[in-house]
Amino acid sequence: MATSAASAPHAAVPTVVGVLALQGAFREHHQAFERLGVTAREVRLPKHLEGLVGLAIPGGESTTMAKLMRAYGLDDAIRDFHAAGGGLLGTCAGAIALATDIAGFPEQPRLGLLDLSVARNDYGRQVASFEADLAIAGLEGPFHGVFIRAPRILRVGDAVETLSVYDGDPVAVADGRVVATVFHPELSGDDRFHAQVLARWGVPAPNGAPT
Ligand code: GLN
Repeated sequence: MATSAASAPHAAVPTVVGVLALQGAFREHHQAFERLGVTAREVRLPKHLEGLVGLAIPGGESTTMAKLMRAYGLDDAIRDFHAAGGGLLGTCAGAIALATDIAGFPEQPRLGLLDLSVARNDYGRQVASFEADLAIAGLEGPFHGVFIRAPRILRVGDAVETLSVYDGDPVAVADGRVVATVFHPELSGDDRFHAQVLARWGVPAPNGAPT
């Protein structure tokens, strides 16, 4: 049987994950994936989602990010990506983007792909940022959580698993291949959380430290 470029071994195609790069702390996610030995691509247009296994939606300013997603048609494209089995990680503003309900902001566009109610900037407006050691399901030992004007998770849907709790509220949650944190795992210098997300997405992390 003739072989052609089209039937070249699948193993030659690297697994690629994406980082939504419209606004906010996307470079840090990119760097975390690359440190783990996984190729990452910055996503600015729907066509950049093609062939990705998962997408990280970073922290930033959730209203601005939502407007930019809409402007570039990325909101519908990300919904299609999710429907086709793509994994998602939303951190901080990214968690707000994934939520089904944003308390006090009924008009704010959201993807609605994770059954959560969130309240923006709910850990205090004056002393808005803090750090805390967290216990995270599946990780050995504490994980240093960096919280920056973090949203509070007020409600999780029945299908949503809570991976970590701080001060009585969930701060890391997951529903299958969709993961959200209200802290910034990309800013802690500890890539174990990203490695855990990659494992959920079925992506091998060649440099992943044991969790
Ligand atoms: N408070 C921001 C918002 O509501 C999110 C903060 C962050 O992503 N660090 O958009």
